Amino acid sequence: MAWQRAMDPGTAAASERGPLTEEAAGTVCPACGATSREAAGEKYGRYKLFGCAGCGLQFWEPREMPDARWYEQMYGGRDEKLLPLEPGHKYFLTDPLAPRGGELLDIGCGTGNFLTAARDVGYDVTGIELDRNAARFAKERVGLQRVFPLTVSEFARQHADEKFDVVTFFEVLEHQAAPVEFLQRVSVVLKAKGTIALSVPNRERWMTGPDVLDYPPNHFLRWNAAALKHFLSAQGFEVLSIREQPVGIAHTAQMINMALRTGLSQTAVGEAPGSFRDVMQMRPEQAEAVLRAKPTTRQRVMQIMGRIKSAACFLLAMVAFPYVRVRRFKGTYMYCLAQKRD
Ligand SMILES: [Zn+2]
Repeated sequence: MAWQRAMDPGTAAASERGPLTEEAAGTVCPACGATSREAAGEKYGRYKLFGCAGCGLQFWEPREMPDARWYEQMYGGRDEKLLPLEPGHKYFLTDPLAPRGGELLDIGCGTGNFLTAARDVGYDVTGIELDRNAARFAKERVGLQRVFPLTVSEFARQHADEKFDVVTFFEVLEHQAAPVEFLQRVSVVLKAKGTIALSVPNRERWMTGPDVLDYPPNHFLRWNAAALKHFLSAQGFEVLSIREQPVGIAHTAQMINMALRTGLSQTAVGEAPGSFRDVMQMRPEQAEAVLRAKPTTRQRVMQIMGRIKSAACFLLAMVAFPYVRVRRFKGTYMYCLAQKRD
């Protein structure tokens, strides 16, 4: 995933202006600038979720992107292997409307799984990745020559004469505190009439409980197809295709598992387990202690029981899947291809 890889000092500029207060910034939608808003009802920690009546985006307040240390702490250790392609990558590689070949830049390329696949079908590939370990892996172990540990702005400054036919950013836009500014930086490295391809979590996916990754300060923006279309059109892009992943069997199993929460693990462990959603809002020292703590025997027993439950839910999912497909529930990924108008 593309956590800090897309982070940019420019995006985190909120801290330069002082912390965003609900009164000061909450009245303005970060995507369309509309001042009208309605509370979407959800709160978590010091954050509150709002919905924009103008464009349909849901966004958290306050929005300040965490520093590199936070990303390293929360997502460390994912930089030593080539992960399988994500659905968004596959949708792009098989999209009949996507240009085939040309210069392609992937923002937040990780260890280079997508870049390798794109290179193999004929693109001239370049990647940027802020995680230095992942960037080094992509270069030295995967053999991708053009991977740079730079932000978009730094890359644009250092390679001022390089413009791309295609710029991709998978699972990046939901992390942005300031999406308009992010897209402006993307436009700087894009050729006239260039193409962008991206994916974000679909807010309209089937959920029977909270998705623990989908909270601030990890994600600040919750998109659906309408909000994404509105945003890209307003920023000078023509949307060529939007694809919403249908629900799959693993997702179905997960949702059944979540729906069958008994509270048993909580009671048996006797203390709050370190849910990612809680840990990511902790102070760094506190988070460090939770992340480093070895599980107790009781917690280990509960982990084993949890695995047995997951396996049972997978069997249930196989039975329920035909019904779930008929209901047309949506999966997590939403892919979009768009072209710059000028
Ligand atoms: Zn809006």
